[in-house]
Amino acid sequence: MEIVLSSPRGFCAGVVRAIDIVDLCLKQYGAPIYVRREIVHNPHVVNELAERGAIFVDEVEDVPESETIVFSAHGVAPSVWAAAQERNLRIIDASCPLVTKVHNEAIRYAQSGYTILLIGHRNHDEIIGTMGEVPEKTLILENVDDALRVQVPDPEKVVILTQTTLSVDDTKEIVGVLQTRFPTLVTRNDICYATTNRQAAVKALESSVDLILILGARNSSNCQRLLETATASGIPAYLVSGPDELDSSWFTGVQRVGITSGASTPEWLVDSITQRLDASQVCTVEVAEEKVTFALPKELRGVAPSPPRIQRVLMDEKMVW
Ligand code: SF4
Repeated sequence: MEIVLSSPRGFCAGVVRAIDIVDLCLKQYGAPIYVRREIVHNPHVVNELAERGAIFVDEVEDVPESETIVFSAHGVAPSVWAAAQERNLRIIDASCPLVTKVHNEAIRYAQSGYTILLIGHRNHDEIIGTMGEVPEKTLILENVDDALRVQVPDPEKVVILTQTTLSVDDTKEIVGVLQTRFPTLVTRNDICYATTNRQAAVKALESSVDLILILGARNSSNCQRLLETATASGIPAYLVSGPDELDSSWFTGVQRVGITSGASTPEWLVDSITQRLDASQVCTVEVAEEKVTFALPKELRGVAPSPPRIQRVLMDEKMVW
């Protein structure tokens, strides 16, 4: 069996920054450091930080007064900032700058009298945070049906903003419907570079593999979108969070396995799966080179980062075919 790795895959710049922020907070202020929600949607990352003294909470009310709280990469609503300030918490914001950009767009367009059609998943932390900026001016659309039905006060002043981790293809379809309904629609494509590149890289695998594995967490939006992208090609595809979820029956008659991973999936997980599959050859299909980095919050600049995490050797055992 051969393995074809898709590139880019795994951590994006926003995830690296968010994890570094918790790491540096632990160094700068000492444990415990409180983190609102999962810092990124991956249990391995969350558990590793929890072992080092991060405490993950649902809401700022769960944090003792005057402690340090980190907001996750998905961004938060202004009401969350206000609640944290009320508790006199030291706030370190790990929101991805590309999510913050969408918040700022929402504020700017609302101030100019626009209705914001926010395309995304209603219950996702990112959409809850963006919606919270100007809730009275924002309508959430999840699918084409929502786009067909939505009513706005002034059809000439409508702008589309999007969640950063959507399916590029599904979003195009929704935008197409809205452009027909609102000819003067302003369209902002907020799907980020990392989401776009990872979906394009999965498509590049399709012509050369018999099966695609997406590595990452089920509650990760961009992992789910990678699964949908792979499945749309008609090739069998599975989302797995670790080697123990592999099922040998998937691999009957399979010669080449494509592997990708979501933007919050650590690379050691790819190594562990590759090792478990015991392939005769591993190659990479690359569609883009990523050199994006984001600056740290000013409070943490100058704190020495931890050395790169030691690659874990997870499994000695191989799968038997
Ligand atoms: Fe930022 Fe995109 Fe990564 Fe989300 S997936 S953290 S928006 S770079």
